[in-house]
Amino acid sequence: MMKKKKYSIHLLILTLLVFAMVGTFIGTAISGILVSKQNLEKNYLIENQYYAQKLAATTDSLFRNMMKRLIMESEESEYLTADPKEIHDELEQTLESTTFFNSLLFVEKSGRVVASAPHMELVDKKLNSIGSKEALEKKLPTVSKPYVGVTGNLILLISVPVFDENRAYKGFIGGTIHLHEINSLTRVLGQHPKHENNSYVYVVDSQGNVIYHPDKNRINDNVKENEIVKQVLKGKNGSQEVINTKGIAMLAGFASAGSTTNWGIVSQTPKSSVIEPTAQMAKQVSLIAIPFMIFVFIISLLILKKIVTPIRNLAIYAKQITLDPSVQKPLIPEWYFELKELKRAILVAVDFYQKKITFVESESNQDPLTGFYNRRFLERKIKDLGDYSIILFDIDRFKNVNDQYGHQVGDEVLKYLSELIKRETRESDLCFRLGGEEFLIVLQETDLPLAQSFGERIRKTTEETISPTGKPITISIGIGNLPSTAHRFSELLNLTDQALYKAKQQGRNRVVVAEGTKT
Ligand code: GH3
Ligand code: MG
Ligand code: MG
Repeated sequence: MMKKKKYSIHLLILTLLVFAMVGTFIGTAISGILVSKQNLEKNYLIENQYYAQKLAATTDSLFRNMMKRLIMESEESEYLTADPKEIHDELEQTLESTTFFNSLLFVEKSGRVVASAPHMELVDKKLNSIGSKEALEKKLPTVSKPYVGVTGNLILLISVPVFDENRAYKGFIGGTIHLHEINSLTRVLGQHPKHENNSYVYVVDSQGNVIYHPDKNRINDNVKENEIVKQVLKGKNGSQEVINTKGIAMLAGFASAGSTTNWGIVSQTPKSSVIEPTAQMAKQVSLIAIPFMIFVFIISLLILKKIVTPIRNLAIYAKQITLDPSVQKPLIPEWYFELKELKRAILVAVDFYQKKITFVESESNQDPLTGFYNRRFLERKIKDLGDYSIILFDIDRFKNVNDQYGHQVGDEVLKYLSELIKRETRESDLCFRLGGEEFLIVLQETDLPLAQSFGERIRKTTEETISPTGKPITISIGIGNLPSTAHRFSELLNLTDQALYKAKQQGRNRVVVAEGTKT
């Protein structure tokens, strides 16, 4: 089975931080892009409406000026002379002095063209155009509906009536505007300042026919079904999103050009035009946001490191202490509640278990009956010692004690003897129960004569003291020294055991010094 990978708190926190930062950044970028896109669309709608309205006002005022210019012209006396030459000259002069018209003509009330500037074929002929008929009928200043003239082009006729001094109608002066050609009107309409975002303007007449469009092929198309055209022909101003004839979504503003013409003017921008400025904005926002986010990221990282590192060190310590109880306590700052309490809890637990281990260890080194060290501890301990003497002793005829007084009294005798020994020994002396009723005392930094006198002393004290049996007991003692008896402990113990054996042999209750290999 595969071991499940454990992630460190650093990695987890780092992942969380990166996730939070990236998430925030994406959220900010998306909301920024959406808001900017919406604002741009709204702006385009407002701008287009404003522009259409401005253009409508300019167009209306242009038509009024054209009309005024022709009314002034109609007051010239030449038109009452019936002299085609004079009239022609007057018309030429006027045409040159203004950029309003593509041509000028004077038509008498019968419909016959008296003169034109520039001179045209139709002079002396009867004019049957829609514009001419309308002018002759109304006998009022009129802007005709656009119509297709003899040349096949779309024409507008602006006409004012001419009356003689008796207010008798003499005919009209007409100015033509060719919608395909350059003139004041097409210049005004074509002055569109926003080519860079693919905005454009088109104009429809009161019937919904296109009379101005940057794409000349569209001129004279009827678009009265278009949503916006419907509204503008009702005389409304406004803005809205619309799909154009090519299926492209447009942000359109529209305005009615006023009562002189009843035209509608539409200024529109493809909706896709907001994409580029929006992307530009997103890029600019990112350029500002990214260094800021990096700054926040680094600061957060430093703070998180300060929070997390002590927890991690504590965890590492908790892990190590289970493997090696001697490992040093780490220096962990306690600058927040959870850390402080966790650290406290771990240290308390470690302390508790260390004490328990020490206790168990010391227990396992000790003989429970006498409180002396046991043989196992002797083997461990003896390696660390320098020079010393040993006293090995055994109770004489202990079997008899057991037999005579019972095992329990036997135990009490063992306890009694150990207490006696404890009283006689120094702090630095180490007492061991090697088994049964056999004991060993290690006298550190003690030479043989001193050990011998000590052995003699305990032998004597034991002999003279009443034991739990009601009588004194005796002990036999063997004594040896390292290094004077032997150089190795095992050898020393062996020789001293032989000395003890000798003491038993020689009648017990005596001290025998081991015969060293060196003596
Ligand atoms: P010797 O003078 O030759 O040493 O005679 P001894 O009777 O003491 O002989 P030995 O050392 O062979 O006998 C040891 C006896 O000690 C045997 C056993 O019954 C007794 N003994 C050993 N351990 C204990 C103990 O923990 N408690 C009691 N009550 N008796 C023990
Ligand atoms: Mg014995
Ligand atoms: Mg014995």
